[in-house]
Amino acid sequence: MTGDLLADASGDDALARATVFLGEVFGLDVAGASALGSNEDLNIVATLADGSRVLLKVSHPGVSRAALDAQNAALRWLRETALVPFEVPAAVASRGGREVEPWVDGVRLARVLTFVEGILPAATPRAAAGLATQLGRTAGRLASALATFDHPGLADGGEWDLRSARAVVGEGGDLADALTSADARMASVASGLRVQAIHGDLTADNVVLDDAGAVRGVIDFGDVGLGWVAAEIAVLACSLLQHDCDPIAEALAAVAAFDLECPLDDADIVALWPLVVSRAVVLVASAARVLAEDPANEYALARAPLERRMLERALTLSFDDAEILVRAALGRLGEVPQEVASMIVGLEDAGEADLSVTSPHHSRGRWTGEGHTERTLLRVVDAAGATVTRYAEHRLTPDAISVALPRSLALGIDAVVAAGTPVRAPADGVVVLGAATSVGVAVDGGATAWAHGVEPLCAAGERVRAGDVIGRAASTTQSAVIGVGWCLAGALEPPALVGPRVESLWRAACPDPSALLGRASADVAEPSRGDLISRRDATFAAVQEHYYVEPPQIERGWRHHLIDTEGRAYLDMINNVAILGHGDPRLTDAVSEQMARLNTNSRFHYEALVEFSEALAARAPDGLDVVLLVNSGSEAVDLAIRVARAATGRSDILALTEAYHGWTIGADAISTSIGDNPGALATRPEWVHLLDAPNTYRGRHRGPEARLYLADALARLDGLDAAGVELAGIVSEPIFGNGGGIMLPDGYLRGLWEAVRARGGVCVSDEVQVSYGRLGKYFWGFEQQGVVPDVIAVAKAMGNGHPLGAVITTREIADAFSAEGSFFSSAGGSPVSCVVGSTVLRVLDEDGLQENSRVVGTVLTDGLRALAARYPVLGAVHGMGLYLGVEVVAGGPDAPDPAAAAAICVDLLEEGVIVQPTGDHKNVLKIKPPLTIDADAVARFLAALDGVLERRASRAAM
Ligand code: PMP
Repeated sequence: MTGDLLADASGDDALARATVFLGEVFGLDVAGASALGSNEDLNIVATLADGSRVLLKVSHPGVSRAALDAQNAALRWLRETALVPFEVPAAVASRGGREVEPWVDGVRLARVLTFVEGILPAATPRAAAGLATQLGRTAGRLASALATFDHPGLADGGEWDLRSARAVVGEGGDLADALTSADARMASVASGLRVQAIHGDLTADNVVLDDAGAVRGVIDFGDVGLGWVAAEIAVLACSLLQHDCDPIAEALAAVAAFDLECPLDDADIVALWPLVVSRAVVLVASAARVLAEDPANEYALARAPLERRMLERALTLSFDDAEILVRAALGRLGEVPQEVASMIVGLEDAGEADLSVTSPHHSRGRWTGEGHTERTLLRVVDAAGATVTRYAEHRLTPDAISVALPRSLALGIDAVVAAGTPVRAPADGVVVLGAATSVGVAVDGGATAWAHGVEPLCAAGERVRAGDVIGRAASTTQSAVIGVGWCLAGALEPPALVGPRVESLWRAACPDPSALLGRASADVAEPSRGDLISRRDATFAAVQEHYYVEPPQIERGWRHHLIDTEGRAYLDMINNVAILGHGDPRLTDAVSEQMARLNTNSRFHYEALVEFSEALAARAPDGLDVVLLVNSGSEAVDLAIRVARAATGRSDILALTEAYHGWTIGADAISTSIGDNPGALATRPEWVHLLDAPNTYRGRHRGPEARLYLADALARLDGLDAAGVELAGIVSEPIFGNGGGIMLPDGYLRGLWEAVRARGGVCVSDEVQVSYGRLGKYFWGFEQQGVVPDVIAVAKAMGNGHPLGAVITTREIADAFSAEGSFFSSAGGSPVSCVVGSTVLRVLDEDGLQENSRVVGTVLTDGLRALAARYPVLGAVHGMGLYLGVEVVAGGPDAPDPAAAAAICVDLLEEGVIVQPTGDHKNVLKIKPPLTIDADAVARFLAALDGVLERRASRAAM
């Protein structure tokens, strides 16, 4: 939209002028008018006296009358001759019987079109099921309906005609390079591509849906012109790449649907992805040009991130890969011959190596850092005493650490053989040579058998017979790895590994090559994620929720990554329990050794218990030197309540709202987070007394006023005194964990605990979430408030995921508790638990994780604050160190936005990041990764969040 047109369109003047114009020139009785956004035209929607609507389109001055006539003729053709099964606008004749009239400025031309009513796809929930397919089908119908349409005013499609993309993109720079490779790829077919009238911009933005979500109409024929038929579907496929979830699958679904209505020929298939790339390049180049002239152009600013995304996504596929997928999506694949000979003899009964995510060979991080899959493979194959790998297995590769969708799916079978081993033709055919070390045999029926890692002994084009030697295993060492596989998409050479997406298409194009090694087809397990969820739902009580509607199946962890069965390593931004990260070998070894040696209960006498108790007490402030060991945070909090009661002979407990302390009856009684239990505030037992959460962001007192919370709390204590309540003590977190890492007001706990102690109560700090160095600057959370509790309840990080909890208190209080008889927890303080506890403390120190929390936490906080400054949806960043919370709001503290928070989490998952919302409103992103997180991972997280937020903002602005 150019600046003056925008001003023109949005001004009341323009609307008034339009109303008069529609009355005088078109004889229409206008009841109301409003402006619509457009790239270049002035578009005004007018509601007529009878309630119907029309669209007044005033074209920009560059559009000729002949072009408008051609557009109108195309609309008539579609309605009256081609009889397309969806609505298109109709041109309304003026009083003078004309469909085009001069606009009031005497320069531009105006038309009136009927308004196609319906729902815009953007207004429906994302991924309206099957939308891509419907759009593809609609584009195909349009293309076949327009195939026989002709009009003297039909011109080339101008800026958007992909035949002249170079004119828009120019020379030099990345965009021009991308266009050059697209051009090169389609050079052999470009001259044979069909040219006809096309819509030119058939995307989700230019259709309307009915209530059932089906395409009801197609709009905006402003780009109708001559162009490649393949461009019609490439434009659509490209637009679908802006979506966050499985965009390539959507684009291919659209292509397949298009083909059913308007069959693509071989040249179209070759040209398709290059055209997708060209379209994305043109969009990005064109937006850059608009923004260079008019940096504040809102339309271009909003679209730019999505257009860049389309280009990024288009470039993730090589042209070979894309063409294989397109052929698979269209079902245009060759067939595997019935009879094949072995390409490598002697592997019929060879053992299979397990390279999947769950392979024990990957433990201890052995899959990382090797930088080269072949080395991993040789090591694992060797360790397993095996020789071949599995087809269609998701492998775990080092790339997973840095890439959201790593190449993990094996399309072939690798075999470890002696260097020089001969490789034979599996059937009669013609030799094709691929990348440096691959040779294939194209057999009759359109299939090619490939062998990678081979020195060819034949020339390309040579005819060979089944069993002929075509090459030998290439290697500089004694062992060599040869990968064999089928590709049914002609002579295109597929990659060894592909990303965990559009899998069924990849498997269709590259079926099981077991027969090429004389082996029976392996039973390839289909992805079992869905099945496993049903089994979980069948037996595991639903009240024990799982993250995400469609959760990845996580089967491995390594440091601050969680790895799913598809070989994706998600950044784990929420596991505050796994403080040392996942899979630490020191912990693994210690547990395994102790478990093998002895695991019993604390009534026996063994060293591990003494060592751990001493280590724990040594971490606590002076005076807190007695330890009770249990198995969880809930147990620790519950026990702390019992201890406080025993010490005071009283039973009432003071607690804060918005908090979570555990699930046992005692811990649950003082948990009032309505995010976890909506009825919490109405169902407290009478021994629980609540103080309002001193929430400095959203509560009654904010900012500097937050100091008033202490006065409120003290007044509440006076009230309890007056009511005759005698408190056993107070239990609270030193930082609002459940609220999303909100810090307490300065001096709050100091003042409050003084008052509780003055009344004879005991002060319990629930350190389950925020201790163990997570705050960076402090080991314990209470240190941040400058106080020392009487009782510490701690768990989670203590065991790095092993069930372990503790109460640490004074000798005096512990002795008072002894008066109640003995205390015993069967597994609490077991040798294994104690070894876990001691090892966690040791590794924490060895690796300097508290310091890492301080240093990396600062980088993370600064990064998040910078994002919050750019995106209003991020209201604030709470917390410190690696205990952070990011508020997601729709305007400010009083407008928490849980829907946006949930959507951001889903989008982040697609980017390979695990984050979840917390808080009473479930709108705070809780960010509390393992303390191993490093600068690279933080950068990856911030970039992912930035991208997700940028695209959200773009979509919202359109
Ligand atoms: N206290 C706090 C502050 C917690 O966050 C939690 C758990 N989220 C608990 C206690 C209970 O711990 P657990 O789940 O180990 O029983």
